[in-house]
Amino acid sequence: MRALVKQSAGPGFTLTDVAEPAIRDDEVLIRVRRAGVCGTDVHIYEWDDWAKGRCLPPFVVGHEFAGEVVQVGALVTDVREGDRVTAEGHIVDGRCLLCRTGNAHVCPYTKIIGVDRDGCFAEYIAMPATNVWHLDDNISFEIGGIHDPMGNAFHTALTAEIPGATVLVTGCGPIGLFAIGICAAAGASHIVASDVNPKRLALAKTMGAHDTVTPNDAERAVKRATDGLGVDVVLEMSGVPSAIHQAFALVRVGGRVQMLGIPAKPMDVNFASEVIFKGITIYGVVGRRMYDTWHQMTRFLRSGEFDPTPVITHRYPLEEYDEAIRAIKSGEAGKVVFEIA
Ligand code: NAD
Ligand code: ZN
Repeated sequence: MRALVKQSAGPGFTLTDVAEPAIRDDEVLIRVRRAGVCGTDVHIYEWDDWAKGRCLPPFVVGHEFAGEVVQVGALVTDVREGDRVTAEGHIVDGRCLLCRTGNAHVCPYTKIIGVDRDGCFAEYIAMPATNVWHLDDNISFEIGGIHDPMGNAFHTALTAEIPGATVLVTGCGPIGLFAIGICAAAGASHIVASDVNPKRLALAKTMGAHDTVTPNDAERAVKRATDGLGVDVVLEMSGVPSAIHQAFALVRVGGRVQMLGIPAKPMDVNFASEVIFKGITIYGVVGRRMYDTWHQMTRFLRSGEFDPTPVITHRYPLEEYDEAIRAIKSGEAGKVVFEIA
């Protein structure tokens, strides 16, 4: 089959022919139709320090996808050939303390497709049946293919109390943009979105932000919207140190900061003034809760109150992978998707 492969320890990908994956008895084989391209793929493409420390080439890249099931293992009972599906890309051991206490999203034995084992930028992918998530008939493969990053946004937003809340979203990349739409659908009373990129601020407006501002103007917008108090909830979705400090500064006393963005390096925080004496709660987001987040996502999509479509701005065939990576790096794009079959 055709697959986008990280062939060796160095920059770039290779589009090449590899063997079709063989499935185990508890797995299913899925024909990939749409696949999302993400910042993680850019790290692997560029072969930065994180990728060097984590990944072992050769492997098939990609972790966000949807498609149809073409083969099921002997032990699989609830997935059939022809089912339209996406999947949770974090494969957990199912046995450890975290998995068995409802916290599988932080399972220490997690293996991620397209990072630790073969991924989805290919004609076919093998997945454990327990990771498979069925798509409603009216949900397109394209929307199915972005359930992973959309799920990050659902996890980040809905583990805070959003109904009636004033919310600041720092960083309007694809995940921040999804989160704005989710907060609007979940009944946030006022959403301030900040980013340095005017294209992304325009998308933030489309997704339902009341104020779209550059970081320099975020304080003024937050103070105006909250009678000077600060927002109830900040969703930190940039990973940029100055935005993280701003999250602590602009959350109200006793508020909550949901941290999804990943800083590239360690950073200093004044815990006394930024966290402790403000009495705030910080929540670290890892992936998607299994499977609370997935149920919430499906129900919001069913309700029609949340539509992620405007976030998808660029679509490419697999052959144009260099273009897809370039579109992400340029900051011109919202969500970028491969149309595979
Ligand atoms: P992204 O990294 O493109 O989005 C970041 C956005 O922040 C960009 O639009 C950028 O212009 C903006 N930005 C830069 N400086 C800013 C500032 N000072 N204030 C406000 N915004 C600023 O794309 P993404 O895919 O949406 O990812 C967001 C973050 O989440 C990244 O850091 C990514 O690594 C991280 N992430 C975390 C998880 C997790 O499980 N915790 C999963 C996926 C991604
Ligand atoms: Zn586990």
